[in-house]
Amino acid sequence: MKKIISLVLVALLACSCVLGLTACGGSAEKKELHMATNAFFEPYEYYEGKEVVGIDAEIAQAICDKLGYELVIDDMDFDSIITAVTSGKADFGMAGMTVTDERKESVDFTDSYTTATQVIIVPEKDSKVNNADDLEKAAIGVQLGTTGDIYVSDLKDAKIERFNKGADAVLALTQGKVDAVVIDSEPAKAFVNQNEGIKILDDPFADEDYAICLAKGSELTEKFNEALKELKEDGTIDKINAKYIGD
Ligand code: GLN
Repeated sequence: MKKIISLVLVALLACSCVLGLTACGGSAEKKELHMATNAFFEPYEYYEGKEVVGIDAEIAQAICDKLGYELVIDDMDFDSIITAVTSGKADFGMAGMTVTDERKESVDFTDSYTTATQVIIVPEKDSKVNNADDLEKAAIGVQLGTTGDIYVSDLKDAKIERFNKGADAVLALTQGKVDAVVIDSEPAKAFVNQNEGIKILDDPFADEDYAICLAKGSELTEKFNEALKELKEDGTIDKINAKYIGD
């Protein structure tokens, strides 16, 4: 009897060891979540050496930490992000992306994590464009597929030049190839700091909400919303914004 009991004990011990190892192995291989972004949009996502940093990168990291995923950032043209998400190539898109009704037809959005505005960048001297009305007949640089692009596309007499990167639109402005650039407020500040001779007009063009997009019906959306709520409540999001923008 004693022998049988000890055999059973040994067997039980062996089982629990195997189970324990499997459990350990399982958690060592954290599941990845792929974030589609366009990493030329300081301060939300941009390269520091080979690493993508910025407000979105840090919020995404904090969400993945909470939910137990490993974050992988996939850099692509802004215009490709929604397709990457709808096709399942990426698990979510985060790119200073504005919530719009049209985008809502193809993806789900989380709750908004920040507000922003579209602004107009012009040459510091002798600008042809001095307010939003002046855009009507101007040559305007925008980033392809952004809300800036969508807004100015309504202007019938304007000449729109579409670029893959906001930086290329700003370069065209500094070279006098376009009269103005319409782009998000924080990246606009970064561009104006990095380039001589351009400024942001005082009156903002449009108010927007940024959110994370996911495939329609994704089970992650609810979890992301819970994580975002906690990160808002415990001050993490404020802290990340303060780090990159100031209070
Ligand atoms: N907020 C703008 C949009 O969603 C621009 C975003 C971007 O260029 N990364 O269209």
